[in-house]
Amino acid sequence: MRLDKSERLFSRARRIIPGGVNSPVRSFGAVGGTPPFIVRGGGSRIWDADGNEYVDFVGSWGPLILGHAHPAVVEAAQKAAADGASFGAPTERELEIAEMIARAMPAMEMLRLVNSGTEAAMSAVRAARAYTGRSKIVKFNGAYHGHADGFLVKAGSGAAAHGVPTSAGVPLGYAAETLIAEYNDPPSVEAAFDANVNQVAAVIVEPIAGNMGVVPPADGFLEGLRTLCDDNGALLIFDEVITGFRVARGGAQERCGVTPDLTCLGKIIGGGLPVGAYGGRADIMRMMSPLGPAYQAGTLSGNPIAVAAGIACLRELEKPGVYETLEALGAQAEVGLRAAAGASDVPLAVNRVGSMLTAFFTSAPVASWDGAAGSDAERYAAFFHGLLERGVYAAPSQFEAAFVSLAHTPNDLAFAGEQARLAMEAL
Ligand SMILES: *Cc1c(COP(=O)(O)O)cnc(C)c1O
Repeated sequence: MRLDKSERLFSRARRIIPGGVNSPVRSFGAVGGTPPFIVRGGGSRIWDADGNEYVDFVGSWGPLILGHAHPAVVEAAQKAAADGASFGAPTERELEIAEMIARAMPAMEMLRLVNSGTEAAMSAVRAARAYTGRSKIVKFNGAYHGHADGFLVKAGSGAAAHGVPTSAGVPLGYAAETLIAEYNDPPSVEAAFDANVNQVAAVIVEPIAGNMGVVPPADGFLEGLRTLCDDNGALLIFDEVITGFRVARGGAQERCGVTPDLTCLGKIIGGGLPVGAYGGRADIMRMMSPLGPAYQAGTLSGNPIAVAAGIACLRELEKPGVYETLEALGAQAEVGLRAAAGASDVPLAVNRVGSMLTAFFTSAPVASWDGAAGSDAERYAAFFHGLLERGVYAAPSQFEAAFVSLAHTPNDLAFAGEQARLAMEAL
């Protein structure tokens, strides 16, 4: 496989854009090598600047549940663009997508549109703080809620200690407002509450973890969080930026049967354009300006083109059988990976929920960040490059989800399974 043009573009990009990329993981830092510069996508495929074709399992990191350049999304965005890109005034489409979202997720009694998942998560936390009058939040080790200051935090020393920044530029005092607990470990959440009585505004959780690789919630974990929050007067925030409209139309809250106070959305609801949303109980959302004292705004929030694309995407997901299809395709991807590992005796733990899955290079089951971190990231990097050379584009990091879309065919998955077998054999 040749990447001559991508190499030239990458070296040009590195002179003007830090690391040559506008979001760090795209630089291939975790796997090495040159990231292909993508020129076009269609259905399950993408093509790079050198003309290489790949079956894509990144799907723009989650939004492209319909695949690339779905005709309904393209048409909606084109039509909206012709009517004017932005007004900074209310439009009917914003109302339409808000109602579609609330129909799928009844716990979002009121919601507001923003431009990214980062904005959704930071605004949901602001709403929770305004409502409870408390400042601390609990987040889980290995979880990602965007790049707002209070989320770039890891555990300090001691189970219930205050967090410390994982990024330069985050003030210590700000990080101290974030308490870190372990995913799938209720006692660690209890410890955070016990050490901070009446101070915790909210627990924020990816109800099905996606950003440490896919890790499903253990039986009773989400129910336990619900109870702990209620007992301690804190709010429960589900960050469904990945899982919303992915694991069910109503997201993880539908699939798992646990109702949060606030929900964060992004990715799929924009159909590939920048849209996020946060919302939940009306009494909490009434805290937000102009109704309440908590400020949050956006020049391009509810952007007509982005929202039109989002509506078109959500309409496709209202068609019958869509989630059954995603389940079946996801299962085929899982079976392919397991068979590939079995054929080469490669220890592999495959976690899957619907159409999101991760193959961890470890022999132990992965149920937490510690488990995920125990996998062999170097081996993953070699596997990743083996796939890339064979025309399969997977996430350039062990700690990410692979996404199957409605555009993937059983043939695509058979092809990917065969390439995975060859790539594992070559390890
Ligand atoms: C991607 C992601 C975010 C951040 O969304 P951006 O649109 O990248 O800002 C937040 N939470 C979760 C769970 C995500 O996967």
